[in-house]
Amino acid sequence: MRIARYTTGEDPAYGIVQGDPGSEVITPLAGDPLYIGFKPSGDGPVMLEDARLLAPVIPRSKVVAIGKNYADHAKEMGGEAPKEPMMFFKPNTSVVGPFDPVVLPPGSDEISYEGELAVVIKTITKGVKAENAAECIYGYTIANDVTARDWQRSDGQWARAKGFDTSCPLGPWVETELEPSDLSIRTTLDGEVKQNGTTADMIHGIAKIIEYASAAFTLLPGDVILTGTPAGVGLVEAGQQVTVEIEGIGALTNTFVRR
Ligand code: MG
Repeated sequence: MRIARYTTGEDPAYGIVQGDPGSEVITPLAGDPLYIGFKPSGDGPVMLEDARLLAPVIPRSKVVAIGKNYADHAKEMGGEAPKEPMMFFKPNTSVVGPFDPVVLPPGSDEISYEGELAVVIKTITKGVKAENAAECIYGYTIANDVTARDWQRSDGQWARAKGFDTSCPLGPWVETELEPSDLSIRTTLDGEVKQNGTTADMIHGIAKIIEYASAAFTLLPGDVILTGTPAGVGLVEAGQQVTVEIEGIGALTNTFVRR
C-alpha cells in the first residue's frame, strides 16, 4: 500500500493512494496508521491532484543516514567504502515534503543532491538481529540527502552540512509492500539524468544496517534510515529542480531556492 500524508487546506491527514498515474485517488484514514493501523476515516475519497502531499512521515526522533554505502560513490568522493556502516544523523527539523522548496543555506556555495532509498521504522527497535529486521520496517520512501559539501569538508562533523533546514526531502508516500533488494534509483537535475544506480549495489544491506544501528541506539516508530547514494552526485543551484525516482515507489521532486 502507498500511504501518503496530505492536506487539502485543512489539518494534515493520512490516506491510502490507489490508481494509475495521473488518476490516483486517496482514501482518507482515521489517524496516523503507524500508530493506530489502517482505519478508514469514513470521509469520501480525495483526488490526488486536489491534495498537496506532505512529508509522508515526520521522524519521531531522528533520521539515521549511511555514508558511502555504494562503492562507486565512495570512489567518486575520493576514498574507499568504510568496512562497517558509517552513520550520521539528520535532525527531524530537516525534513520537508514533495515539491517543498529546498532552501540553500546562507554561507554555503556547494550544495549537492544525493538520491537515496529511505526505510521507515515501525516498532521500537533495539538490539535487533539482521534476520529479524524486516519485522521492524513499516515501509519505504524516497529521500534526497541534501549536503553542503563545503561545510562537510570544513566542519569535521557533518551536523551543519547535512542537518540544515530543508536538507531532507522525503516522499511522495510510504510504500508498505516492497522488496527493496534490487530497485533502480535515478536522480535527474532539471531533467538530465545524473545518478542511475540500483539498490542491489548497496554495500551494507538494510537488515545489517538495522542490526548495526539498533545495537548502538533505539530506533523509534517513524524514525527513518537513509541507505546511501549511488555515484553521480553533483552540485545544484538556486532555481534548479531535482527528482529522485525509485522503482516501485515513485518520484520525489523538489526545487532549490535561495532566500
Ligand atoms: Mg547520503
